[in-house]
This record gives sequence, structure tokens and C-alpha cells, in this order.
Amino acid sequence: MKPEKSTSKLLEVKKAQEIIFSNFSNLNSIDLPLIDSQNYVLSKDIFAPFNLPEKDNSAMDGFAIKYKDIIDNKITELKVVGRVGAENKSEAYLNKGQAIRIMTGGEIPKGADSVVPFENTDSGPMRGLNYPKKVTINTPVNLGDNIREAGLDYKKGSLVLKAGHLLNPPSLGVLASFGINNVPVIRKPVISVISTGNEVVMPGDERKPGQIYDSNSFIISSAIKESGGEVNLLNIVGDRKEDIESAILSCRNSDLIISIGGVSKGDFDLIKDVLLEKGEINFWGINMKPGKPLAFGRLNLEGENVFQIGLPGNPVSAYVCFELFVRPIILKMMGANDIMRKKIKAKLTNDITNTDGRRMYTRVKVLEENNEFIAEIYNNQNSNILSSLVFADGLAICPEDCKVIKSGDETEVILLEG
Ligand code: AMP
Ligand code: MG
Repeated sequence: MKPEKSTSKLLEVKKAQEIIFSNFSNLNSIDLPLIDSQNYVLSKDIFAPFNLPEKDNSAMDGFAIKYKDIIDNKITELKVVGRVGAENKSEAYLNKGQAIRIMTGGEIPKGADSVVPFENTDSGPMRGLNYPKKVTINTPVNLGDNIREAGLDYKKGSLVLKAGHLLNPPSLGVLASFGINNVPVIRKPVISVISTGNEVVMPGDERKPGQIYDSNSFIISSAIKESGGEVNLLNIVGDRKEDIESAILSCRNSDLIISIGGVSKGDFDLIKDVLLEKGEINFWGINMKPGKPLAFGRLNLEGENVFQIGLPGNPVSAYVCFELFVRPIILKMMGANDIMRKKIKAKLTNDITNTDGRRMYTRVKVLEENNEFIAEIYNNQNSNILSSLVFADGLAICPEDCKVIKSGDETEVILLEG
């Protein structure tokens, strides 16, 4: 067999992202119980079914009064004509010289326009059914004080959460406040992960001389979960075409297949062969470092069309490629509006030298000093160096056409967290 020639031109990162992203769109909508909906993306706009709060209510435990009584009529001792708890509907009407005991959240009685907290009166909390029928106001309040207006938070009919919103704890609280117990969300994509390599074994399994433990399955599976996807992790597959093919076939119902390793130019790198045999390669090779040998293609698995991304086997390459190409499509399938990581500008602590015109993603730790960001570069940037990933919370970019970025100069950094 002839050795493979490397004549194919490497694709620019931006172009590769465009191609991959354009092949994915949001998945179907499902209804989930509110309690299970965290980290899903809303599939429909949610409008307020009623005002929140629904009624004008008290912000304090105290007395609902007429402001005029105290300021204009100079009445300091008011007759207490009722009591409203947080759960009560207020039936009473307040006449001149009267007050109603009211607890936080209680509906403001008709005729009242302000609430005087207990602290400003001669009264305090009372247990039981009885309470004093008079109250002295020691310190007045301003007109309207301590009243939470109906609809102040959300007006009936207003947009509460937009489709595409990632449901976080506060958004679950808002939905709960409107009594919404079934939430329309986009289902999560199921991503199959297949680690390949004769030398790779699972932690916990017996390891023969020369073999290494599989770190990629764990990096990539947990990164999928962190992005919001569901993982279908397969057993490690050796470098045998039939084994890779049968593993891939078992993933025909997933939304995406990620293979790891076997995608370079080695004698046992068979992923491209499988893609060609079972479907088509869209592209192979990206003008980036690390991560050059990534392959993207579509498989036809007994009538099911499933996309496959072949990540390189070196753990740093696999992870950087995941960040640039896989995480965004997981978010896209989940229906998120914002699929890209945040970027900042940061000053480098050392030079980045670009020797071969590829777009470089340098592992850095971002620090904030004197109101500017500093990107501390890890001392070993090789694609097998796991400690560089443990160290880093950012990827500093050195563009293709840039030969060197000097220490102290600013460059763009992709933030890997948050
Ligand atoms: P490959 O892309 O299969 O040629 O692998 C490139 C390098 O990454 C080799 O040194 C492999 O041993 C290593 N490698 C491949 N898969 C894994 C894995 N799952 N965990 C850790 N290292 C791996
Ligand atoms: Mg391999």
C-alpha cells in the first residue's frame, strides 16, 4: 500500500466551525416537570399568566394606615380594626383613624395607603388570636412606604423568559412563582463517545506493559455533561476496522458520534477508513495547533444518518477540539442562543512563537491585576501534557498569520469556565 500523501490543504478554524455548526440545529421540544428542568433550554417564550405580585401587599410586619391620618390629621393613636396574614385576602376597609395589623406579604386593605412597621409603633409580634385594639405610631413613614405594588416584578402578559434561555435556579423559581409545573424544553442531545487504541485501557482494568490508561473518555464525557449533553460511553475499541465499525453501528440512534484517536497518519489510524466506508468525510485536517487531525463526516448506519467527529488522541488536542467544535454544537442542539465561550483580551507573560502558520491555542491561566487581565502561559504546551489542561482556564489565541506575540502584548483569550 502506498503511504498517504499530505497534499490536502488544512481548513481554517473558522471555516471548519461554519461547516460543522451548519449541520446541526435544535432538537425537538419535550415537556418536563419543573424540578427536572434545570440546565435545559426553554423551547417556547413564557409570558406572565398573572401579575407578580398578584396584589398590592405589605413589605413589612406592621400596620396598614392612612398616611393622611398621621400627617394631616395628626392622629398618633389609631384604632386597630383587623389583622391580615400573608395568606389572607383583605376584606376590611380602612376608615379615618383606623389601622389594620398586617404581616409581610399580606394584601393591603382598601383605604390604606402606607404601612408602618412594628418598629415605628408601640406594638410588636402577638401570638394567638388576640391583639391590642389600639396602636400608637411613634415614627411616621412616607406615603406609600412598605407597599409592594401588584405587577411590580412581572406584569400580566409580559415576557418572563425567552425561548433559548438556559434554565438556572432563579429561572426555576420564577416559573414556580407562576405555578408552571410543566416546562417546554429542548431535549438533550445524546453523544456517543468511543475511545480507540490498542494501547488504551480503562482505569480499574488490568494494564499490560506499554499500555496507558484512557484519560480522553473521562475528559470528553465530563465535558459533554458539563455542556448539557447526555453521554453514551462505549467500551474502548482496539485499532481494528471491524471493531470500530461495530462500535459505531451500535451508536446509530445517537445525535452525534465522537471517536477519539486513530485519526492521524499512523499505520493504525483507521477512523478515516471507517468514515469513507460507512459514509463520507466532509473534511480532515484543520490549520490549528493542537488539534490538526480532526475529521468530520457523516455516517450512514443502516439507514440512519449520524455525524461523526473524529477527535485526535492526544488529550490536549482532543479537549481543545472539543471546546472549539463540539461544545458549540451541543449547545446548538439544545437550542441555546449563546453557543460560544466568552473571550477577553489579556497580556501575555511570555512570548508565543508560531513556527508553522497554524492557529495556536495556548493553555494559559487568566489573572486580574490592576484592572487588566494577565494570561500566564503554561511552560509545556505539548499536546500530551495533561498538566497544561489542569493548570489552564483559558486558551490564548495566536492567529495563523502572526509569527510571534511578545510577552506583555495583548491577545485574545477564550475563557474555558463560566
Ligand atoms: P492517536 O491519535 O490514536 O494516534 O493517538 C495519539 C496519542 O494519544 C498517542 O500517544 C495515544 O497513546 C494517545 N491516546 C490516544 N487515545 C488516548 C486516550 N483515550 N487516553 C489517553 N491517551 C490517548
Ligand atoms: Mg491510536
